[in-house]
Amino acid sequence: MVDTEKDRIKEYDEILDDLKTTFMEKWKMKRIDDVTLESFERFRTLGTGAFGRVILVKYKPTSTYYAMKILDKAKLVKSKQIDHTRNEKRILQSISFPFTVFMEFCFKDNSYVYMVLPFIHGGEMFTHLRRMGKFDESLAKFYAAQVALALEYLHHCSLIYRDLKPENILIQDSGYIRVTDFGFCKMIDNRTWTLCGTPEYLAPEVILSKGYGKAVDWWSFGVLIYEMNAGYPPFFAHDPMKIYEKIVSGKYKFAHHFGEELRDILKNVLQVDLTRRYGNLKDGSLDIKRHRWFKSIDWIEIYHQKVQPSFIPHVTSHSDTTNFDHYEEVPLDIASVDYYGKEFAHF
Ligand code: AMP
Repeated sequence: MVDTEKDRIKEYDEILDDLKTTFMEKWKMKRIDDVTLESFERFRTLGTGAFGRVILVKYKPTSTYYAMKILDKAKLVKSKQIDHTRNEKRILQSISFPFTVFMEFCFKDNSYVYMVLPFIHGGEMFTHLRRMGKFDESLAKFYAAQVALALEYLHHCSLIYRDLKPENILIQDSGYIRVTDFGFCKMIDNRTWTLCGTPEYLAPEVILSKGYGKAVDWWSFGVLIYEMNAGYPPFFAHDPMKIYEKIVSGKYKFAHHFGEELRDILKNVLQVDLTRRYGNLKDGSLDIKRHRWFKSIDWIEIYHQKVQPSFIPHVTSHSDTTNFDHYEEVPLDIASVDYYGKEFAHF
């Protein structure tokens, strides 16, 4: 390794260590902000999830637009998701990285828990990928580089993300991405066992109910690289059981236009054998960052967002929602009594 490369690795390691220190400080804090729903003007729904929805809001004191995630306390109690949601909130309040969302405010009332996030104007990568069919290899690489840095950061903070897919990657008006939805993200010492994620992106060791670790995120990273370049995922079937069979066998076909470097990184990341999967070997994420498919990437320039993106989503104003699908609007129904005060006391 040449000295300049060693210096740059050291420079980035120092950045990561500082980010981890900040993460650990925020992780220890109990955070509920002194704001209420009245502080926000509410607009349309941007997306929905199992326990609530995400709407566009304007914070009145500063006229800034945000995405507000509203979770229904009654639904969380019924489906035993309180601890899970508290975990998501704790992660969102603690992370700060250019390519992940973070929490600006958090508060609760009698019926809902609210998490306020920066509004990411460009919408989901999923929408753009379906519109374009597939990404140019250089655009796919630009996004993959940011996702690799985001995963490396989360892993450095002992977090596994566990739900990487184009729906969870939002594109900012700058053209850079932010990973969202930390509902499955978990702090781990070493290994964990829960079955969660999205069929097409699950790692073989998750399907086989083996204890698993950070390497699952690198597997999903391989699935993502494949899908961005091909326009469809490597393991696909209508029946989830068939998808699982294909994943566990590790057999998939490259799209005919995939070049040698792309094929090689995919072979090493979509590797069923954990002792051979890139990202999980002794040099960790460095094997991925040093791979020749990424040879044009200057990782520190990407981190500092100095590289000009080749695609900028069409955004006309701070409140433009044209990059988002339409959803039926349901008014908030705030109870006059806090039935779940006890369950959410430690939230
Ligand atoms: P989630 O429940 O966190 O997966 O969010 C559901 C959907 O809401 C996402 O797939 C996005 O379409 C949208 N969404 C979530 N967070 C944001 C955000 N910060 N900015 C814009 N849209 C968002």
